[in-house]
Amino acid sequence: MTVQAQVLDLLEELRETTGTAIQFISHNLGVVSQLAENVVVMYAGRVVERATAEELFANPQHPYTIGLLGTLPRIGMPRGALPSIPGAVPPLDQRGSGCPFADRCTRATPTCMAEMPEEVELSAVHSVACHHP
Ligand code: SF4
Repeated sequence: MTVQAQVLDLLEELRETTGTAIQFISHNLGVVSQLAENVVVMYAGRVVERATAEELFANPQHPYTIGLLGTLPRIGMPRGALPSIPGAVPPLDQRGSGCPFADRCTRATPTCMAEMPEEVELSAVHSVACHHP
């Protein structure tokens, strides 16, 4: 954790001193929330949600994003297995025409199984690719 904090500080410093952008790829949402101004959530190689970090963490819309946020450990959580999203990412050769998250999604409907959701703008700072956000 100490080294992680040092690396994050260094990245922030480099960003400020060089005026550059940083593309940071991570499954660690805690780190993402500290570092990012804008977040793009991907699943099975597709963008499923994008928003400013503030908006995404306050108002997630895609079931995968909501599931990811639900896996974050929290102070006061009961001991035991950490929460996870049941199932696995479908292999590349077993993806149909529908939403690749459908097998794991509690909101899935026949439309989800048949049609790939397009990314739609919910606001100027938030878009999602889901039939039932
Ligand atoms: S399109 Fe359907 S299956 Fe895919 S994430 Fe949205 S609700 Fe779930």
